[in-house]
Amino acid sequence: MENIGTDILDKVLEAGRACDFRSFSEADVRKALDRERLGPADFAALLSPAAEPFLEDIAKKARKATRDHFGNAVTMFTPLYASNHCENRCQYCGFNAGNDIARARLTEAEVEKEMDSIASTGLTDILLLTGESRRFSDMEYIGMCVRKAAERFSSVGLEIYPANTEDYRHLHECGADYVTVFQETYDPETYAKFHLGGPKRVMSYRFNAQERAIRGGMRGVGFAALLGLRDDWRKDAYCCGMHAYLLQRKYPHAEIAFSLPRLRPTSSHRSDDVKVSESNLLQVAMAYRLFMPFASETISTRESPRFRDGIVGICATKISAGSSVEIGGHSDVKNKGDGQFELSDTRGVAEVREALVKEGLQPVFNDYVRSDRWT
Ligand code: SF4
Repeated sequence: MENIGTDILDKVLEAGRACDFRSFSEADVRKALDRERLGPADFAALLSPAAEPFLEDIAKKARKATRDHFGNAVTMFTPLYASNHCENRCQYCGFNAGNDIARARLTEAEVEKEMDSIASTGLTDILLLTGESRRFSDMEYIGMCVRKAAERFSSVGLEIYPANTEDYRHLHECGADYVTVFQETYDPETYAKFHLGGPKRVMSYRFNAQERAIRGGMRGVGFAALLGLRDDWRKDAYCCGMHAYLLQRKYPHAEIAFSLPRLRPTSSHRSDDVKVSESNLLQVAMAYRLFMPFASETISTRESPRFRDGIVGICATKISAGSSVEIGGHSDVKNKGDGQFELSDTRGVAEVREALVKEGLQPVFNDYVRSDRWT
């Protein structure tokens, strides 16, 4: 595991420790809403309980910020799970190495078949995912998947295990341009409690993945806290925002994205553990928008169609469609391996597209042209 000698983790943990959400008043929230550009204290104020009576005002400002920076465009994409082999024991995840599920990895021919099927829907943005297993999804395998994707799609994102800078450089040369890593939680104690085995136990290596990805040449990086894992979900949202903010200051050229996952039921996690309401999730998404207005926000298929259609009108700028969280499922490669979590929105590309149009939004299939396609 490479050590790049960065101090951002220390700064984020310190910011999290110093933040007391009970100290914010309605006046602090109003002050944050009056500002053109928000600082970390304003961001914390918008996440605090004091902001809850102001959700409509925050939504108005967030909607304007989204329109100012993204117009009415919403990018559509789909995830492709290539493998569900995993060496980690994350207590909330269906792919947990201790779970007795059907494990599988797509063959090269199946990868092509799945991608051809996705490309036939018109989508040009794909997110490749694997469970975290260097044995079953080594760099050669992921590089193969990326090359196949780059032949068919203009934007190739990755959600794989954290890698070293040179691995990211290799994957970038194969055609990947975006790396997303969910930190899950920014509280070292909660992190240790939920990650009981495997390389993911090394929190700092995971935390610094986005920085290594940027150094490896990736165009953009994505961040997420799995909201609800830590009792104080506001603090995880705050630390996630600070993580992105500090990295953006250090690497101003990097594109930044947030994902908005809430803890959902899986075979290893009970549904009555869910602590974050839809209104809480909306509050977090709007606070991210106002703190980092240029960052894109992806709303997960873990959420209901009604919620997803609503939030894209306010602050989310990216939405998946035709999703399958199983290994296979986009083509006649059916259910080769079990899925990671339960989907709440199972709509296909055409349905999501239609819903966006109904909301007065513009579904965008392609917002990026690869430089190797300029000629
Ligand atoms: S959350 Fe990721 S690393 Fe953890 S068990 Fe699931 S797939 Fe593996």
